[in-house]
Amino acid sequence: MAFEKIEIERWIQKYPLLDEITNLTPVVWLNSNINKMDQLSTLPVSKTDMEEATQLWQRFATYLAHEFPETQETGGIIESQLRKIPNMKNELNHKYDAKITGDLYLKCDNELPIAGSIKARGGVYEVLHYAEKLAIEEGLVAKNDDYTVFSSDKFKAFFGQFSIGVGSTGNLGLSIGIIGAKLGFNVEVYMSADAKQWKKELLREKGATVHEFKGDFSEAIYVGRQKTIIDPMGYFVDDENSKHLFLGYSVAAIRIKEQLAEESVQVDANHPLFVYLPCGVGGSPGGINFGLKQIFGDNVHCFFVEPTHSPSVLIGLLTGEKEKVSVQDFGIDNQTEGDGLAVGRPSSFASSISEKLVSGIYTLEDDDLFKLLAILVDSEGIHLEPSAASGLLGPGRILASNYASNNNLNVNQATHIVWATGGALVPEKDMEKFYEKGKSLM
Ligand SMILES: *Cc1c(COP(=O)(O)O)cnc(C)c1O
Repeated sequence: MAFEKIEIERWIQKYPLLDEITNLTPVVWLNSNINKMDQLSTLPVSKTDMEEATQLWQRFATYLAHEFPETQETGGIIESQLRKIPNMKNELNHKYDAKITGDLYLKCDNELPIAGSIKARGGVYEVLHYAEKLAIEEGLVAKNDDYTVFSSDKFKAFFGQFSIGVGSTGNLGLSIGIIGAKLGFNVEVYMSADAKQWKKELLREKGATVHEFKGDFSEAIYVGRQKTIIDPMGYFVDDENSKHLFLGYSVAAIRIKEQLAEESVQVDANHPLFVYLPCGVGGSPGGINFGLKQIFGDNVHCFFVEPTHSPSVLIGLLTGEKEKVSVQDFGIDNQTEGDGLAVGRPSSFASSISEKLVSGIYTLEDDDLFKLLAILVDSEGIHLEPSAASGLLGPGRILASNYASNNNLNVNQATHIVWATGGALVPEKDMEKFYEKGKSLM
């Protein structure tokens, strides 16, 4: 469904920022519809849902530790470090003329076990949730059993009757494929044209079936959904509308609360917490934003970041049309090197929540992804994939806006968390190319 040109023009008149967005100029949008915390109860998900999701992760911990030795250290809990990055803060202040006050941290989801990206939260959670539901219905397991039984041949044979489908630009497919195949499901991954070759190969190696498309993410997800739902034994992980992905992501907030306490970081009215989250369909940033609001209320301020060529959630929230509009409707091409961010249309489930909770969205150019990636390697020795570096511009961009003064925030006592969303599985050669490209742009 394309929109008439005249309608687009009417929108641009109503929201002048759209003029800059369609011209691909990097922008900062502040959400004037953000709700105060007394409205959290009106959302379609609750704090109880998030706590139940935490318990599901707990039940599967013995299974995960058994199947994925890299999670043994954390007792089968999939979690990443929170690292202070003072050298990067200095570099941003120098090279980007940012005026960052307060402490800068990196949430290292690039190191997450199993999937090497933030999808190890949402994607793995949704598959575990589905597997548990099937196993309980079949009478194979009860919630207080030891879940290492999920490794048994009996379980694998049982799950072998079912298939799981997913549309992906790469990372979601990896997470669903790896955990799904491990449990014994037939996994069908529908990959958009921009998905990297090594991701497809790795998936096939893990036992998933990969279908390749010439079109973008929306097309891959559309075909994947159609093919999966006609299969009576098929289950589709729908990135455009998934409550389970969302809840899987939200658990990160509970964990980060503990990590901040370990670092003796205060979060209160005088010590605001700013969080910067790379955004594709809006599921992972939305779920984490939701979780953080449940815990820190009005003292946490979440910002999403999108490439100038794929500002789908920005356009969806700014116009209020959410999943009904795509960037292509506005003449934007959805071409970006930020894997996971090349999304033309937002998730309907996540956007209906984020429109009430997100503080704002900024956009950046692809060149900055590579520059930031290289600066982070040089200053902190941390390797991310390009999309995952996008949050690093957040502190500078938001502090330069009116946000803090509008909200009377004490930025001198702020804590900034940049969410690094992926990187660990990127082949070394590709990582070197990213780094070289970043250096050449400086
Ligand atoms: C998927 C992904 C995102 C964005 O998550 P959405 O749920 O699509 O908004 C960001 N960074 C990376 C590396 C990703 O793989």
